[in-house]
Amino acid sequence: KPVIFSGIQPSGMLTLGNYIGALSRFSQLQDDYDCIYCVVDEHAITVRQNPADLRRRCLELTALYIASGLDPEKSILYCQSHVSGHAELAWILNCFTYMGELNRMTQFKDKSAKHAENINAGLFTYPVLMAADILLYQTNYVPIGADQKQHLELCRDIAQRFNGVYGDVFTIPEPLISKTGARIMSLQEPDKKMSKSDLGEGSVFLLDDPDVIRRKIKRAVTDSETEIRFDPENKPGVSNLLTIISALTGESIDSVCAELDGQGYGALKARAADCAIAALEPLQAEFKRLMGDKDYLMKVQAESAQKAAYLATKTLRKVQKKVGFAARP
Ligand code: ATP
Ligand code: MG
Repeated sequence: KPVIFSGIQPSGMLTLGNYIGALSRFSQLQDDYDCIYCVVDEHAITVRQNPADLRRRCLELTALYIASGLDPEKSILYCQSHVSGHAELAWILNCFTYMGELNRMTQFKDKSAKHAENINAGLFTYPVLMAADILLYQTNYVPIGADQKQHLELCRDIAQRFNGVYGDVFTIPEPLISKTGARIMSLQEPDKKMSKSDLGEGSVFLLDDPDVIRRKIKRAVTDSETEIRFDPENKPGVSNLLTIISALTGESIDSVCAELDGQGYGALKARAADCAIAALEPLQAEFKRLMGDKDYLMKVQAESAQKAAYLATKTLRKVQKKVGFAARP
């Protein structure tokens, strides 16, 4: 079976953007692919984290993976820091990545503007660690949101460069970016993507109460017209709500527009809120149940980490040999 790898950072509570762009798609893949889903805690510390919060969020994210329909018997659900191969391969790949390439990464530019007090080298080399995550498992497909497309292209470039020097060591991965919902925008600033590190009214969090979800969507920024039309350029707020409805229901944007034709933005927002609540309520209930059984979650993490480490070590040993590291005694 082809291999799927993806990761989510435990850098905050997941948003509706993470759900639509990534999480909700993961479980659909688990029957036809060998799926590996990682809680990327090493990525999370590129921004300062409170240790207790970070540790709790790693467990919560494991619970959310399972609550979203992932089956630990079918998919590998583990924490990045439990498999040392990620950091080890990242170092090697750092030596095959150019400063100029990393300088072009828009996420680095965005995040270093947002965290001007802590522009650390890890934030800069984040895409190299991400490349290591993916290449360690000989991944074929990477389900991600559109914001990670540039990083995936760099990953492919690094892999091809390495293979060019040493022969076919790495599988070249392809992105799986969905057509609708690949980039859910902030409800308050619809020209910016919704991010879990943006606290406040612009993000719907997966564990928000239904009334909070309804309130946030009701207050979403729209425009001064009244027509419900999909036009991301001129009507980013309205288009974002249409995208959310379409992604959550599977209905086409055209049919959602037709359905709401002649009604006001109030109706559009009510529809978007209904869809979000309907999608999230069962997830929240299952999440609560799972968080009551921490031993089970830890067991899933431990067993998955063991499976992941086995696969990772296979690739890592091959790479270490290729670059000429000393033979293991
Ligand atoms: P942070 O602000 O800490 O970077 P984030 O919300 O960007 O958090 P990540 O952990 O960086 O979340 O990304 C997890 C996955 O969610 C990735 O596949 C990413 O592409 C996807 N994703 C993130 N934001 C969105 C969004 N607004 N719309 C669709 N997909 C998204
Ligand atoms: Mg992000």
